[in-house]
Amino acid sequence: MNPSHDTTPAAAHGSVLVINSGSSSVKYQLVDPVGGEALASGIVERIGSQDALLSHKHAGTSTKLTEPIADHGQALRRVMELFAEHGPDLAEADVVAVGHRVVQGGDVFDGPALIDDAVVEAIEALSPLAPLHNPANARGIQVARELFPDVPQVAVFDSAFFRTLPDAAATYAIPLDVAAKYSIRRYGAHGTSHQYVAAEVARLVGRPIEELNQIVLHLGNGASASAIKGGVAVETSMGLTPLEGLVMGTRSGDIDPGVIFHLHRNAGMSIDDIDNLLNRESGLKGMSGENDFRALHDLIAAGDKDAALALDVYIHRLRKYIGAYQAVLGRVDVIAFTAGVGENDDIVRAKVLTGLADLGIEVDLERNDGRKSAATVISPDGAKVLVLVVPTAEELAIARQTVATIEATEV
Ligand code: AMP
Repeated sequence: MNPSHDTTPAAAHGSVLVINSGSSSVKYQLVDPVGGEALASGIVERIGSQDALLSHKHAGTSTKLTEPIADHGQALRRVMELFAEHGPDLAEADVVAVGHRVVQGGDVFDGPALIDDAVVEAIEALSPLAPLHNPANARGIQVARELFPDVPQVAVFDSAFFRTLPDAAATYAIPLDVAAKYSIRRYGAHGTSHQYVAAEVARLVGRPIEELNQIVLHLGNGASASAIKGGVAVETSMGLTPLEGLVMGTRSGDIDPGVIFHLHRNAGMSIDDIDNLLNRESGLKGMSGENDFRALHDLIAAGDKDAALALDVYIHRLRKYIGAYQAVLGRVDVIAFTAGVGENDDIVRAKVLTGLADLGIEVDLERNDGRKSAATVISPDGAKVLVLVVPTAEELAIARQTVATIEATEV
């Protein structure tokens, strides 16, 4: 994959259905890859239960339903019915391709792949590296191929952008034969978002991406940082799995692996218990009871000390990564905030950026104020490091990579 995949395809027509299939949910968006608009979007949650939740949005109206949904096949067939009942008409929308978000491409995929049986098998074979995600991604692909047998489908990998990490950054300091045998290295995640935002930054500042050293902070419920040199990723905070790195909504991020042995030996917790603890019960939620920043700020305002500590831990970790990535890059031109927290939470942004003037990092509190639904510079004029908020658009990026992959295959 290279940064040019994020440019608008010159002669694309029709729309792309983007599917993000999780273990118990399917998110979808119908995208115009040229204009960039979402023509419709939705989600099916709690698949496998009697009270699955369906939500379909189109033309300013939102349809919400609760009903039994047995599996991913039924979920996507219901989505097709929702399109037929509530629009837009998929035949009129001319679905030219289906793009699938796949979390783990391992060592196999360094860019998007036109889907055939071998690609699906390879995605399934990578499941040990992403047991929660890849089987669900593969299931979504299988169902979509049945529903759209004549439409080309493309897998876009969350890890692909980070295949360029130098060995020094990607290698864990464990015996190399063990690492090789079990495919243990730092793969990263959220790559589609980091790549999209870095390309957007270059477009917005009107400079070639090759000239820019960037730190991108994707701060959503999951969170990751990346160091990008001239459009090429050289460091990222997520590792073998999305558990490493920053403090997240429910994930601990970096932790001494000794904690795992300690809990196993002294608290009698099984590996699955600890997996659940660190992935789903930790992070902001583990420290404060809340994983959403809006609720966390309310707790802090009410005097909750645990919530205040959770925010301090979150900010401290982020600042530590910014300092580390300055050393990795040597020179930083841009810091870009994106995703739910990065785009909306001015308190987090201000706390991360304040007091770093000696590193060339400054924030203009007036510019920073409020939620940002469009790209916004939040550093003062003349600051050494340009700091921006850039809304991410992962579905659009997947749609564009999907079209570009199909066009490249046709040539
Ligand atoms: P994402 O995973 O990118 O959808 O981000 C979800 C997270 O963004 C939520 O858990 C919140 O912590 C955060 N978030 C969303 N909206 C706001 C807001 N208006 N203010 C502060 N944080 C927000």
